[in-house]
Amino acid sequence: MLYFSTRDPRKERGVTSAAAIKQGLAPDGGLYLPERIPSVGLDFINKISKADYVGRAVEILSLFLDDYSREELEECCRSAYSVSSFPDGAAPLKKINNCRYCLELWHGPTCAFKDMALQLMPRLLSLALGKTGETKDSLILVATSGDTGKAALEGYKDVDRIKILVFYPAEGVSRVQKLQMITQTGKNVCVKGISGNFDDAQNGVKAIFRDGSFATSLSDSGYILSSANSINWGRLVPQIVYYFSAYCDLIASGEIMAGDVIDFCVPTGNFGNILAGFIASKMGLPVGRFVCASNSNKVLTDFFETGVYDKNRKFITTTSPSMDILISSNLERLLCLEAGSDASAFFMSELAAKGRYTVPVDIMIRIRESFTGLWASETEVSETIGRYYRGYGYLSDTHTAVALSCADRYLSESKAERKCVTLSTASPYKFAASVYSAVTALDAPEGYAALSALADATGTPIPGPLTDIDRREIRFPDVISPSEMASAVAGFAGAGI
Ligand SMILES: *Cc1c(COP(=O)(O)O)cnc(C)c1O
Repeated sequence: MLYFSTRDPRKERGVTSAAAIKQGLAPDGGLYLPERIPSVGLDFINKISKADYVGRAVEILSLFLDDYSREELEECCRSAYSVSSFPDGAAPLKKINNCRYCLELWHGPTCAFKDMALQLMPRLLSLALGKTGETKDSLILVATSGDTGKAALEGYKDVDRIKILVFYPAEGVSRVQKLQMITQTGKNVCVKGISGNFDDAQNGVKAIFRDGSFATSLSDSGYILSSANSINWGRLVPQIVYYFSAYCDLIASGEIMAGDVIDFCVPTGNFGNILAGFIASKMGLPVGRFVCASNSNKVLTDFFETGVYDKNRKFITTTSPSMDILISSNLERLLCLEAGSDASAFFMSELAAKGRYTVPVDIMIRIRESFTGLWASETEVSETIGRYYRGYGYLSDTHTAVALSCADRYLSESKAERKCVTLSTASPYKFAASVYSAVTALDAPEGYAALSALADATGTPIPGPLTDIDRREIRFPDVISPSEMASAVAGFAGAGI
């Protein structure tokens, strides 16, 4: 199966899945999509219902990554989703009540859903270097506002032929997030704080990617640059699996019959997670609707309602920072699937030029058959955490609470009476201070103490990967200025540029 850029309407430049994963972004600036979405029937779903998560993943991935052998995929998935990385299972489904379920995607090494993709993708990339005949090693650069950096470090640490360097805003991440990163283990990793904000870090990384002569010097020292962000197909494809897995678990526990239609509610930022669900439904998973849940940065809610995507608005800092996003990059893939490459390329050029675009009514009607956009205010998020904790004994993080609030509104307004699975994207302990305040109506103690306070208040355990991070060895104390980023990359690669 070949992959084409969303900006290649005549499908002239197809690449294998390994090449798509190695490249990340297509050379024309578009995102890779498979030439067609493979379709599966109820027999397939019934069959994988009897398998474990790894078995389900191998069946689904092999439909898309046909230049990888079954043995390779099995090996990759078995090590990515091992019991040592996911002691409570990869994607356990928790029942809240008769129509509400939570699919918990945060039982991995960094306690956020990004692990689901970033535990697998490095293994796929490592193999991709061999499959594409690449003689150089890969140097991954990441600018992070928190969750992605740590998940990428955990995923890429000690992976063959790959080095990873993460830049984070020294004063722009939480204490827990910073400790997670500067105590990172592994012999191929490096972390640098930037004296600036996330945009400074991101712009610095983008400038390095654009600098042709820098790339040549790196290449002379044996490295090609890659990125680990969510526009890479290698991050999207692992996420398709858990939509099937949730459905299979509902069958296996007798909650539904194969063929019954269910809904999903997804806390959304860059539109990567929910798009993976949409692809699962295009493959044949019986999904009625995707509720796209946003926080106060509700650019997507407005888009689904009006057909106008407009990023020209105030950026709001919320308690669900991983959803504080005004450009949802993966929406380009949805537009390409529903409106075709020519139209989506036009929308993206409008976005670049004016910061807004308008999708015609006929296309919006089609999109609204699958998506409903809803949003939750900061007050609703906090109220929802408290209500779910008291009413159902369910403790959720702030991102998940955005979605639970939207799912409640959707369930009360829709007449569908279908089961609704909400994707739970982070451990409540990752955002312990906000969760503590929502549950107790008290101010949380500063820093790491918020985690112990939450544990004491709720009687729930601090997840293993977050215990003792205040006592681990600090390996990467450096903070540099944005102008020093390129030399940090060169130094790390041993390039001596
Ligand atoms: C990244 C992230 C999201 C948003 O996911 P997208 O794929 O960007 O839509 C939601 N919740 C948490 C906790 C995240 O880390």
